[in-house]
Amino acid sequence: MSPTYLFSASSRRTAGRYLTRSQSVGGGVVRHVSGGGFGYDDKHGGFQPSFPSSSSQLATRRKYTSDISSVRNASNSIVVVGSGVAGCATALLAANEYNINVDLVCAGSQMVDCNSYWAQGGIIYRNYNSEARDSAESLARDILKAGDGGDGMGLCDREAVLKVAKEGPSRVRQFLLDAQNENYANVPFNRDDEGKLSYCLEASHSAPRILYWADKTGKAISTHLAEAVLRNPRINVRNNRVVIDLVRDGDRVVGVRSLDTESCVQSNLYSELGVVLASGGLGGIYSHSTNPNGFNALGSSVALARRADAQLSDLEYIQFHPTALNLRGQKPFLLTEALRGCGAYLVDDDGKRFMFDFHEDAELAPRDVVARAVYSTAQAGSNVYLDISHKGSEFVQNRFPSIYEYLISNTGLDISSEQIPITPAAHYTCGGIKTDLNARTSVQGLFAAGESARSGLHGGNRLASTSLLEGLVFGASAAEYIGEKFDDSSMSSIPSSNEEKLEADDVGLSEAVVMHHGKKAQDIITQVRRTMWEEVGIVRTPEGLNSAQTNLRRLNDEAEMLFSEVKTSLAVIAARDASLAGLTVSESAAANNVSAGAHCIVDDEIDMVEGLERVAM
Ligand SMILES: Cc1cc2nc3c(=O)[nH]c(=O)nc-3n(C[C@H](O)[C@H](O)[C@H](O)COP(=O)(O)OP(=O)(O)OC[C@H]3O[C@@H](n4cnc5c(N)ncnc54)[C@H](O)[C@@H]3O)c2cc1C
Repeated sequence: MSPTYLFSASSRRTAGRYLTRSQSVGGGVVRHVSGGGFGYDDKHGGFQPSFPSSSSQLATRRKYTSDISSVRNASNSIVVVGSGVAGCATALLAANEYNINVDLVCAGSQMVDCNSYWAQGGIIYRNYNSEARDSAESLARDILKAGDGGDGMGLCDREAVLKVAKEGPSRVRQFLLDAQNENYANVPFNRDDEGKLSYCLEASHSAPRILYWADKTGKAISTHLAEAVLRNPRINVRNNRVVIDLVRDGDRVVGVRSLDTESCVQSNLYSELGVVLASGGLGGIYSHSTNPNGFNALGSSVALARRADAQLSDLEYIQFHPTALNLRGQKPFLLTEALRGCGAYLVDDDGKRFMFDFHEDAELAPRDVVARAVYSTAQAGSNVYLDISHKGSEFVQNRFPSIYEYLISNTGLDISSEQIPITPAAHYTCGGIKTDLNARTSVQGLFAAGESARSGLHGGNRLASTSLLEGLVFGASAAEYIGEKFDDSSMSSIPSSNEEKLEADDVGLSEAVVMHHGKKAQDIITQVRRTMWEEVGIVRTPEGLNSAQTNLRRLNDEAEMLFSEVKTSLAVIAARDASLAGLTVSESAAANNVSAGAHCIVDDEIDMVEGLERVAM
């Protein structure tokens, strides 16, 4: 049986907008709620299938007829999949420092269609004010405290932690604080009256060391990085391209096969230098997720790597963000850690700050502890609220303008005077494609950076605001490793095409068939999300994981069957990746019976609340 997630009625000032006990959800399935859903689900903003819209598009449907050898010899560029912080870092460093041409492929219609854009809190830098006592060593200690699993479990990779802690500040300066040089970005982070950078403290950090731009840091970083990429003549950005598979030549990855979602034409892009997967995580395969909509975080990284036989690791460690909005009919909009860093409380129906029952650092405890405490408190029958109203209206509106604006205009909730009802939601993939310090995977020619990768930095639980930094550091490492081996003597300054359009060969399917398969695929995605939330969620049981694996294997078989018949439906492609990624996570979780970090496994439901408290302490 899957866990039941109860919310009780409350007499708060905003009561009536919340789920009441009679409207409780069983494992994420909305019951008795008319005209609305429990936050994020497929009716309220989940991934929508995109079908070819005209018969002329359908007529261009292709089938594979590739001849690798004739094309890839002409290749003199790298292929980067993903336009987030990691993909931009690889592309910019490769182009600027090594004169390498880059094909940057991304699924969205704009580069900023990525998780990076939605980061709210900030990015770790170094607080050079001596009173802050910040250093690479203190950051490394904080990362290990959050992620290493305690009791010598050693879930983090020490070398990866030290690399990010030491290299991080110079990468931030290089990529994001480049006031002189148009090659990179100059992000307008918040500064004090003297023009010095402002630092924010976040949960589990021992020093205020986070750079931010109000509560829209990801927007500022992504926009400025994207502008730098688009200015660069060596980088060819290919929007609306969904990568379907990696192309292999023997044991080596030599390119990607992608679908142009506007023309429905498939092509292979080749690179002898390397393919870098910066294609993000898989938070979007859960019914309740903080990750944005679109073809995003649907598990492509894991699925592409698994189909290419690359090693994956630590995928049981899915981080659930403790504080996502929990209002009927609204998606679980993320309420940044910085709110708690700035003093927001977590309270139950009685106004009690319950975090003291779980951890001495209360609201500033590690993220996994807070997520389970919120879950456990809700399981015990209380609503849970985030409350920053005691900080006053002026502070709240100045420090968190977009959260304030978003909530007041979309829900009528005034966070400067009212409590915010919250729930945990799937947020971040700590594991992923196994990489070394140079971002190399186990397969020759294939690199991974950012949330797609398991670099070893996060161990079982990511420290807040480390992921944007990880994307910069390891995105740069991939480019550096490739660049050091690259001889640019025969390069032209403009990217030459290394693309092979696949031979036109209409497979003769009617629009009705494509629509039908797309709808079936959408149904598969919904089932994957529900299974992941109910059985591979915050608390797992062996029985639930067994049942999840059976379901997800069946769903993946169905998706593969649809894909064998229709290769141009975005929904089918998404279902194929999401189901395989979900299956891989459930297999990892089932293979690890030790609760640590973001992976909590208990024998059965009766043990659940007790188990939660035990793990949280
Ligand atoms: C709401 C929210 C708030 C966050 N706040 C913070 C924060 O304050 N600080 C912090 O450090 N981290 C934060 N994070 C986490 C952080 O944003 C991400 O971990 C990080 O941005 C990942 O960057 P990335 O470059 O690896 O991937 P992404 O930014 O997710 O980019 C993935 C790219 O891959 C592309 N892609 C995916 N699949 C395919 C495919 N099959 N074919 C082609 N392209 C594909 C996408 O189109 C996209 O361009 C937050 C995350 C969320 C969701």
